[in-house]
Amino acid sequence: MTSQRTRERLVSRLRESGIRNKKVLEVMLKTPRHVFVDEALGSRAYDDTALPIGFGQTISQPYIVARMTEILLETGLCDKVLEIGTGSGYQAAVLSQLVGQVYSVERIGALLTRARKRIRALNLYNVRMKTFDGHLGWRENAPYDAIILTAAPEEIPPELLAQLKHGGRLIAPVGVAGQQQLHLIMHTPSGYECSIIEDVSFVPLLPGNR
Ligand code: SAH
Repeated sequence: MTSQRTRERLVSRLRESGIRNKKVLEVMLKTPRHVFVDEALGSRAYDDTALPIGFGQTISQPYIVARMTEILLETGLCDKVLEIGTGSGYQAAVLSQLVGQVYSVERIGALLTRARKRIRALNLYNVRMKTFDGHLGWRENAPYDAIILTAAPEEIPPELLAQLKHGGRLIAPVGVAGQQQLHLIMHTPSGYECSIIEDVSFVPLLPGNR
């Protein structure tokens, strides 16, 4: 169920879906996604689907984790990356093996506690996490080379754009349920440039932390 063969099948699927970045594919192959879901869902951990992680939230579909990561790596520096929506910790674990330092914020404290344990158990030491409202980013460590949202706002929170370096990128699903698109925003000398990547389906970015 959680064998190397099962993971290899997932990576072949990702390749067929258009993921080309070798480093991303390598990291997806070696990151144990079953560690990030409930034991009862272990047999589905290497399916290319989102899965429930409790509190009405989901671990993102592997394809979209790979796609967003590939875009960040291929558009510029990735020394310091902020993730909004730690959830299971899977996306943070993937990023941590490809970038310098990951900061990740999550509004649900119980999810963050679990994510922290999993990430430590995998000996990934370059991820810092806190329970916080991601609309506000994590100002103390700003500015970031890249910011990735794994929950969808209806509009990009301005405070997040303000925490991007010059040359920095923000990647986020934007829109209401059923009508979301993945946006890539680049902080260029002439302002913020936005391009739309593809249609996506994410849980909403909710106000406040709990
Ligand atoms: N990256 C996660 C995906 C989790 S789903 C993974 O790999 O598993 C999105 C997460 O965003 C949920 O855990 C949800 O609680 C969180 N979230 C929603 N609104 C938020 C907010 N305002 N601030 C921080 N986290 C938020």
